[in-house]
Amino acid sequence: MKIADIISFLESLAHPSLQEHYDNAGLVIGEKNRECSGIICSLDATEEVIKEAITKNYNLVVAHHPIIFGGLKKINGKNYVEKTVITAIKNDIAIYAIHTNLDNVVNGVNGRIARLLGLENISILSPKEGTLKKLFTFAPLDKAEQVRNAIFKAGGGQIGNYSECSFNAEGVGTFKGEEGTNPYVGEVGKQHRENEIKIEAIFPAWLENKVVNSMKAAHPYEEVAYDIINLANKHQGIGSGMIGELTEPMTEMNFLIHLKKIFNLRVIRHTALLNRPVKKIALCGGAGSFLVSTALAAGADIYTTADMKYHEFFDANGKILIADIGHYESEQFTIDLLTEILEQKFPNFAVLKTKVETNPVKYFVE
Ligand SMILES: [Zn+2]
Repeated sequence: MKIADIISFLESLAHPSLQEHYDNAGLVIGEKNRECSGIICSLDATEEVIKEAITKNYNLVVAHHPIIFGGLKKINGKNYVEKTVITAIKNDIAIYAIHTNLDNVVNGVNGRIARLLGLENISILSPKEGTLKKLFTFAPLDKAEQVRNAIFKAGGGQIGNYSECSFNAEGVGTFKGEEGTNPYVGEVGKQHRENEIKIEAIFPAWLENKVVNSMKAAHPYEEVAYDIINLANKHQGIGSGMIGELTEPMTEMNFLIHLKKIFNLRVIRHTALLNRPVKKIALCGGAGSFLVSTALAAGADIYTTADMKYHEFFDANGKILIADIGHYESEQFTIDLLTEILEQKFPNFAVLKTKVETNPVKYFVE
């Protein structure tokens, strides 16, 4: 199996176009056409993790955080990033990062946390804009079904838990094939009128090439007429953070204890308790201060995240309980998530969780 096969599987779950603008997810180091000898899953691709891969003789590290965010102008080993890059390249270890694109899908980092917390009725806290498009095309009556199904097969027509959604209206199309054409119906040089079905279907933006190519391949016309428009609708399955409900309300204190147990925490930084039961839980693994106001607006009782700064805690405004559980701690189960999805897809392949604890933050508790 090639590294490219593993990448294309991961990209089918969390397309790289779903990453945030500051991110650098994707194949950070390595050549995708090399054979893969084994995979190590980790949160951070530090030099220690690369060394672990070397010891195991595995040549692919699938990490959540990309080791390189910005451009490297000199690579001489003066810091941990450059050291990692040098060690990886010297030893032919590829690093693939699946970062904010994995944060932004339902079954990604936050979906995992929501399930661990036992939440139900879960949905994306802040659905992402610019992820939906619509395709219109016009097919002769007898081929409309074939064209429609080709759109569906490529991933078009999916709305929530409904698939094969489309709208179809009958009308009359006109065309005149100029010299050198070979029209499917009608004669060259004469205007032709054909009863056609206008098919319209929604599709996720990242599937555009696939959907258009599939539609064109199934379409009988030599020159296929179609329109694509960007939609202002937000894809409800794509975006940041998550919100859900506990099956039974809990006291705030019991919820904090619940968090401590599940994430094996030494400490939780939180705002003042509001002395009310909690049921609606908003969460975001990793740095999530950008979603405090969204969590508030969504009516969450608690917002569980990490990397909150002093002044950002004030944003709770006495209306929500913010619980900062630590960046590494909040995302630690991403390692299990990556390992499980890879093991499930490639059952006879060597996939390992890293044994290196990469959390750079330590707690001094006397
Ligand atoms: Zn993170």
